[in-house]
Amino acid sequence: MPGNELINHKELREVKKIFTESDGVLFAHGFDKRRKNIFRVRQFEKKLSNVFKSKYVQCVSSGTAAIKIALKSLGVKHGDEVITQSFNFIATIEAILDCGAKPIITGINEDLNMSSEELSKLITKKTKAVILVHMLGYSAELDKIQKVCKKKKIPLIEDNCEAMGATFRKKKLGTQSDIGIFSFDFGKTITTGEGGCLLTNNKKKYLYFKRYHDHGHKLLRNLPRGIDDADMPGFNYRMTELQAAVGLAQLSKLDYILRESKKRFIAIENRFKNKVKLRGIYKGSIPNYDTLIFKIDDKKKRSRIVKYLNSTGVGTKNLPDAIKWHFAFFWKHAVTKDQIKNTLISKKILEKYIAIPIFLRKKVETYEKVAIGLLKLI
Ligand SMILES: *Cc1c(COP(=O)(O)O)cnc(C)c1O
Repeated sequence: MPGNELINHKELREVKKIFTESDGVLFAHGFDKRRKNIFRVRQFEKKLSNVFKSKYVQCVSSGTAAIKIALKSLGVKHGDEVITQSFNFIATIEAILDCGAKPIITGINEDLNMSSEELSKLITKKTKAVILVHMLGYSAELDKIQKVCKKKKIPLIEDNCEAMGATFRKKKLGTQSDIGIFSFDFGKTITTGEGGCLLTNNKKKYLYFKRYHDHGHKLLRNLPRGIDDADMPGFNYRMTELQAAVGLAQLSKLDYILRESKKRFIAIENRFKNKVKLRGIYKGSIPNYDTLIFKIDDKKKRSRIVKYLNSTGVGTKNLPDAIKWHFAFFWKHAVTKDQIKNTLISKKILEKYIAIPIFLRKKVETYEKVAIGLLKLI
């Protein structure tokens, strides 16, 4: 969320450099001489690789594209099943459908993330991949999910679009599975307007990402692009130099974003202590403090609280504000009736929770005041 609030002269300076240093080459590939060998997308990938301690990073045009490329690299095709969770973002389901595969949906725990228990029950001979989504800043029960996938030899994709900077057992999310996914759209922790990336430690997978996102180029060394041909169909999911320039400035702000978000998050958490039930945290999970989520059992009280949060200008993000984009119960256009039935228990859990988004353009004191206002209603 906060990345877009911090856009300033630093992003502008990076964008200007494309014109002052590399003669306006906006394309990530080729034109070596004209651009004086300055490649901004490649620089952004290298920085991401260092920050996230992941061997390989491939930037692409969006997080949704990144999920699709990940599935393609695992050979997901018509007739296959891919498992993901009920509380989610529609992008994972769309990527599965776009590969011709069938989405299978698990329920969630009180931590609002994928249930490993349900996951193990839903795996069949047709299961080709699992997409786990760390929702709204918190790690899922990653070790348990990894164990299920390992036992059944099914690749695990970590969709970390909503939890950049959060950790599980001190290691960054998005780096502890076969493939990690980030989004840099305008609502994410850091932004490039639109954009995303794939992280992996597997060279073969990385080379597939690199080729598939760029029309299937063979990427033979030292060949000009016009001569380097293809032996597999790909697509165009390329990132531009403009996006990467903004991304470089944004990435340098990530530590600041995490630090400042934590201050606001804690301002509420401290006041809620022993008075309000917070979202469950799986042991070993440290959030990125993007959203504070709490539980209110009483329906009337809940609606008063939501009204209050909207009146303060803070709002309630995905619970319940944008719930229709984040919960499979509402996706009748994309999943079967049976799958929607599977989401009824998740619905009972989700409808009790309220989300407070953390904005950096709002002061710590604003969140203190909001917390005090909320306590009066609870
Ligand atoms: C934002 C988001 C995506 C998609 O990212 P885009 O860059 O907007 O395509 C995928 N998964 C989750 C969980 C997200 O929140």
